[in-house]
Amino acid sequence: MHQEPVPSDPGRDGDPSGLRPGPDDHPSLGSPGWRLVPQSPDWDEAFLAARADDEDPGDPEEDEDPDNAPPPGLDDDELDALIAEARTKGREMAAEQAAVAEAWARSGHTAVMAAVASVVMGRRGPGMPGSADRYPAGHASPAAGFASGMPLDVAPGCVGLGSFLEEAAGPDDRYAGVTDDELIGVICGWDRDEAHASARKHAAVGELIRRRPGPEGLGWDEFAGRELGAALGVCFSDAEDLLSLADALQTRLPGTRALFRSGILSQAKAAIIAGATMLLDPEEARAAEALVLGRAGSMTPAGLRAAIRHAVMQVNPGKARKRREHAAKRARVERWAEGSGNAGLAGRELPPAQVLAADQRVTAWARELGKAGLEGGMDVLRARAYLDLLLGTDSRPLGSAPDRPGQDAGGGGGPQDGAGPGGGGGSGPGEPRAPVPAGPVAGVIPPGFAGRVTMTITAPTLLDLADRPGELAGLGPVDPALARDLATAAARNPRSTWCLTVTDSQGHAIGHGCARPAPASDRTSRPKPGTSSGPDPPAAPRFTLLPAGDPGPPGGYGTWRFATGIPGQRDWLIKIGPLPAGDCDHRHEARGHDPGVMLRHLAQVRHATCTGPGCRRPSTRADFEHNTPYEAGGRTCLCNGNPKCRFDHRLKQDPRWQVEQLGNGDVRWTTPSGRQYTTEPTRYPI
Ligand SMILES: [Zn+2]
Ligand SMILES: [Zn+2]
Ligand SMILES: [Zn+2]
Repeated sequence: MHQEPVPSDPGRDGDPSGLRPGPDDHPSLGSPGWRLVPQSPDWDEAFLAARADDEDPGDPEEDEDPDNAPPPGLDDDELDALIAEARTKGREMAAEQAAVAEAWARSGHTAVMAAVASVVMGRRGPGMPGSADRYPAGHASPAAGFASGMPLDVAPGCVGLGSFLEEAAGPDDRYAGVTDDELIGVICGWDRDEAHASARKHAAVGELIRRRPGPEGLGWDEFAGRELGAALGVCFSDAEDLLSLADALQTRLPGTRALFRSGILSQAKAAIIAGATMLLDPEEARAAEALVLGRAGSMTPAGLRAAIRHAVMQVNPGKARKRREHAAKRARVERWAEGSGNAGLAGRELPPAQVLAADQRVTAWARELGKAGLEGGMDVLRARAYLDLLLGTDSRPLGSAPDRPGQDAGGGGGPQDGAGPGGGGGSGPGEPRAPVPAGPVAGVIPPGFAGRVTMTITAPTLLDLADRPGELAGLGPVDPALARDLATAAARNPRSTWCLTVTDSQGHAIGHGCARPAPASDRTSRPKPGTSSGPDPPAAPRFTLLPAGDPGPPGGYGTWRFATGIPGQRDWLIKIGPLPAGDCDHRHEARGHDPGVMLRHLAQVRHATCTGPGCRRPSTRADFEHNTPYEAGGRTCLCNGNPKCRFDHRLKQDPRWQVEQLGNGDVRWTTPSGRQYTTEPTRYPI
């Protein structure tokens, strides 16, 4: 368990190169730098599209503010006057913060407070961009204090801030004389003020809880929700949510409470942290929040949700698993009327491996429908396929179906039906064998979990060496037990592909290798240390990863032999080469404009999501975008290319925006108002 109060978070300036293993320095298996990344180049796009917001490992939207010094732009007298005024008005807020700090210090929360202080000091509002450059206002503006890095731009939310914001707004909310940069600062100021007010409201609700205690002093009185709901004009469950968040903030999450109060965290983000840590005891909850608070303000809600879920698993993997298993008892199918007059149908709390298998089946059939000429985008086709599979119908236009279903296994890539014993079908012990659906669908879609899933998972988890959380792209963070189950299910399918990514201590990818099948003659010629000595039942494969002797290309991490331990499956060889950070030796450069499959893949490993600010679209669906255009002499290489979704690709081309790719893979965006935001390479869980 991490006892560190807050991730040291050196950001893009961190990553001391001393931590990067050299060519002769085989990292030992099980060291925290290792992680297995089985993935497939043709991962199903529709599935990713549907989950673009909630699926990717890493939190690419972290920022670190490089310079906190008040920038030039006002003359000294103006600056002094402004600061003096801020001091006067902010006196009560300072006193208030000091009182809070003192209270927490008394209650033994000093570590968390130190973490919070380090976050609050000198940081800007939610989103907290850094701004490397100064954009002098050039004139006295009523909002000069809100320009990048100015005192009001970094002031915590508090009652006093409101009067400055009022003043900047003018009588008609038109912000006369206010620059774009200042206006953005004002918007962030209002956002912090809003969060601060909400935090104070929750603190007041906390006092109500103390006055309406529950049985034996725990929680709150069962009717308190009615009393609060009636007062606020909300329903009982909304009032209960309010009580629950207020209670969590005052009993379990001192760090979250402090950041909420200073406006760094919105109410929605505080609720995300509270919800994810619900099952933890107070000490564990503090440990979990400490793992995310340093960057929670600048992460999107989806990114924060993934990060805090991951932190919870790190703090107490057993509880995360228990929560999943407990929720599985509430498995159900829901049906509802959509607001439009259509209807919805969804399975909830289902076994993840089977959901992936089912989803792949839907996509495979949707592709068949598309090939047969049914019109519509992938969403529409998948919806049609979903109903076809449930109803046993066939929506292919008449005359388009092949004579013998099964002769075209197109969606899948291989005839999987009736695969040999231990292969194909089921995705886990005790699960039903995948039935071949009756009707026209029969034989067209390969059953079972196809293993076309991009996941990151720690090698120690796979090898049962440690209880570290793994992560499955497509479902967000998963607990170690589930990670093993899913890897096992994927391994059973011969179509699964595997990659190995080496990360540094920050989780950034620094090496990568894609598995290739080992020569068949190798398979039985050598014993596999690490496999269990007795007969290996098909239900319990053992993953092994061993040095294969070959030192590999210079600068790389050697060649490894990977075995799933499944009888009849051949081993894999993985040659791991470096992913350049800093000076690029252009080893992956492509000659022409087109990056080719491998360079594109490596760029996607480095950035698992689009490099647009706050964008979480998976990079597997993004363009490889030249930072300096190819036509202008830019290389087609990792040092001059990164994934951008279509939207952010267009954004980059807007002349009002500027984008630079830095040597370490960071991508820096400068907005029309001059504020800068940096997207760093993906941090894989470590
Ligand atoms: Zn790969
Ligand atoms: Zn290069
Ligand atoms: Zn994007």
